Amino acid sequence: MHGPMNLTLFNTLTRQKEVFVPLVPGRVSLYTCGPTVYADAHIGNLRSYVFPDVLRKTLARLGYQVTQVLNITDVGHLTSDADQGEDKMEAAAAKRGESAWEIAERYTERFLTDLDRLGIARPDVMPKATGHIAEQIRLIERLEEKGFTYRAEDGVYFDTEQFPEYGQLARLDKDGLREGARVDMGAKRHKTDFALWKFSPAGAQRQMEWDSPWGRGFPGWHIECSAMAMKYLGETFDIHTGGKDHIPVHHTNEIAQSEGATGRPYVRYWLHGEFLVLGGESDPEQAARMGKSEGNFLRLQEVVERGFDPLAYRYLVLNSHYRKFLHFSWEALKGAETALLGLRRLVRQALDDLGQMGNQGESLPTGLPAAGSVQHELLADLCDDLNTPKALATLHVALKNPSVSAQERADLARFADSLLSLGLMDFSRLADVQAPPEVEELARQRWAARQAKNWGESDRLRDELQERGWLVKDSKEGYTLEPVKG
Ligand code: AMP
Ligand code: ZN
Repeated sequence: MHGPMNLTLFNTLTRQKEVFVPLVPGRVSLYTCGPTVYADAHIGNLRSYVFPDVLRKTLARLGYQVTQVLNITDVGHLTSDADQGEDKMEAAAAKRGESAWEIAERYTERFLTDLDRLGIARPDVMPKATGHIAEQIRLIERLEEKGFTYRAEDGVYFDTEQFPEYGQLARLDKDGLREGARVDMGAKRHKTDFALWKFSPAGAQRQMEWDSPWGRGFPGWHIECSAMAMKYLGETFDIHTGGKDHIPVHHTNEIAQSEGATGRPYVRYWLHGEFLVLGGESDPEQAARMGKSEGNFLRLQEVVERGFDPLAYRYLVLNSHYRKFLHFSWEALKGAETALLGLRRLVRQALDDLGQMGNQGESLPTGLPAAGSVQHELLADLCDDLNTPKALATLHVALKNPSVSAQERADLARFADSLLSLGLMDFSRLADVQAPPEVEELARQRWAARQAKNWGESDRLRDELQERGWLVKDSKEGYTLEPVKG
């Protein structure tokens, strides 16, 4: 045991759930791979920032002092992850007749707006790749001094043959790779080698380019994360997060170049999120990953323009475990919004019962909630590898339980919101369908009767509600009340 409540996390390195123990007692260093800012993030990308947000809030509640770094990739990410093709930033600039710098700035701003709308707390440090060229060059020099690099006609490469542990994170079979899938080799010696520095093309001037000991050019995509993570968090740090597509290439390469340079372990816990997909609910083979290059993407802005509360999307994300597919559809989003509004209605009821409406400014006590309380149970759900669907169920059940006092329900709502950030005290969207307190009370009694399989009583209460002009709709998560139309 490591204190009153253990946090377990699934570590991609070991493919196991492990009890989290930080390197430095009381502190946690957390790095989150951030966006490439040549276009808007799609809602799939945004999913990959929700689970680190819940993680940092959970860690903070457990009493850790968390430093979270999220990088902004504004140079060097090529259209193919294998060091070929155009730089995504320069390509976007050419297409739109704007400068790469303007594009980076605009999409960084829009990304931050998306984070805000999703209740994702701003990371402590948000370094840009273009602001850390010197650090990247220095890291490449260290690798060069240790014999891990070679120069080719178009750049400086990391020689993966010199790093025997290469590919452990992804369980890569280097020999299989050698014979296997065709890889566009370009100038590299081995299929798994990757660019550390690329030269500007002869005779052409890039918008983003810098001098280096090897020639004018720009950093490869992976080196930025190693250089910035180690600058802000140290050569070994606690947790690194990203989408699972990063396991075989980007994170594999980050490990090789960081550990090659320092001779120490780079990251202690690697956490990877599963994709948001379209389709495939009954047959996972049919699920299509949402992707910028797949052309099937949706932005958060479109969700908002359809009249949804962006936090309904956050609810949808939290209602799937981060290591499982999230099957997106508009119906699923509608269902999430209904469930979220149901929660807010229950919270309003609790505050009404307490006579505390309009008095929500109380500060939340710090420290761990008392063992045996619902707050404790909800935190324990999150401590089990961020089991957010379970936490939501715990919250719904307790808010509907007539034997939980109004004070407890109100405190629970504030506690849950500090971890899940669902705007539980935002009642603005409830205004048009506000049921009077006695109707809410009847609905709560009916739900309790239903839970107790007391069907006669539950039907009677349903009829009574209908006579008073309110329809009850049940769903997996609970019920909602709607005024009878006409
Ligand atoms: P990018 O801006 O392309 O560098 O990607 C930002 C983040 O989104 C990375 O952590 C990716 O792994 C992640 N990502 C990309 N596509 C999806 C998806 N369909 N679902 C969830 N995460 C994704
Ligand atoms: Zn990264």
